[in-house]
Amino acid sequence: KKKIAVMTSGGDSPGMNAVVRAVVRMAHHMDCDAYCVYEGYEGLVQGGNLIRKMPWDAVRGWLSEGGTLIGTARCLAFYERPGRLKAAKNMIINGIDALIICGGDGSLTGADKFRDEWPGLLKELVDAKELDAKDIEPYKHLNIVGLVGSIDNDMSGTDATIGCYSALARICEMVDYIEATASSHSRAFVIEVMGRHCGWLALMAGVATGADFVFIPEKPWGDNWQQEMCDLVEKHRNLGKRKTIVIIAEGAIDRNSNKITPVMVHDLLADKQGLALDTRITTLGHVQRGGTAVAYDRMLATLQGVEAVKAVLEATPETPTCFIAINENKITRVPLMEAVKETKEVATAIKAQDFNKAMGLRDTEFTD
Ligand code: ATP
Repeated sequence: KKKIAVMTSGGDSPGMNAVVRAVVRMAHHMDCDAYCVYEGYEGLVQGGNLIRKMPWDAVRGWLSEGGTLIGTARCLAFYERPGRLKAAKNMIINGIDALIICGGDGSLTGADKFRDEWPGLLKELVDAKELDAKDIEPYKHLNIVGLVGSIDNDMSGTDATIGCYSALARICEMVDYIEATASSHSRAFVIEVMGRHCGWLALMAGVATGADFVFIPEKPWGDNWQQEMCDLVEKHRNLGKRKTIVIIAEGAIDRNSNKITPVMVHDLLADKQGLALDTRITTLGHVQRGGTAVAYDRMLATLQGVEAVKAVLEATPETPTCFIAINENKITRVPLMEAVKETKEVATAIKAQDFNKAMGLRDTEFTD
């Protein structure tokens, strides 16, 4: 029987439990044994009780659970070859040669490296007498498939990452709450949302809540953004609006790549010589990441988990490592490292203040 393991790695996101459930159930359906690696790569490096066989009913009820029940971690040891050697040994001890990883681009890059090194790692383990040559005989190739779990929607090559719509829904709900109190006191609120170097959550939250102004890293406002923002807020106020909502991505910058902070925006709106608005700052923080997944993320995680099992079973040594994406509502397989490269290109373009290029590259994520 083939043994397929699933793990979650990097930051958690809503929908990861639905991924694990789908992989375990589909593995059983395909007459394979299912395993979970607990605590991300840490579990692979340490082995023992952190690698567990999962019967069908072990994942019962997981669709509606937030976070990741098998744990996740950032594992320094896996960046180094000795850590990956230990991981390879633990895979062989458990008889696992197919791995499905749900994480961000870092986790998936690590997975691709592990697969590349696989035959060499096994040879080294045999040379060091950690394993017998006959132990490694059935495990010549390692099949790895990725799933992107992230609230940021920051991976190129897929329209949505698992968890981003749950975070967006949470932000909208929170902004609705804030709007009620803002309106009552005729106040302004500067709301910081997550997303690291990606503005998707801020931009979509702005659209979905009708915010007055939005700051994202990919498309900074002009050099005179302070005046532009104040003029627009004033215009809205003159139209009778009793509340002002400014959404700011945590990675927001100006045209010169200087960080734009909620305090800077607050001070502008509250300036006694200017708009003099009674202004508060709300940093939404981890409420965006925790909690249960919305229906879309449960559906996406389930369809992609099923496809991931099919993909690891079909992969050949020649198949490039892929991750499971969604493009125009179809579940697809995308070569992993090309998408990672394009994702990194956005960050490089932003750093080089080439914002048109950055926006162009991000655009492909939404329209491809
Ligand atoms: P998130 O987007 O939530 O941060 P991520 O997967 O990008 O998720 P990372 O911290 O970059 O998060 O990676 C998670 C783990 O994956 C690391 O702690 C490390 O164990 C492994 N990893 C990441 N990059 C590599 C790499 N280049 N080589 C080997 N292992 C890696």
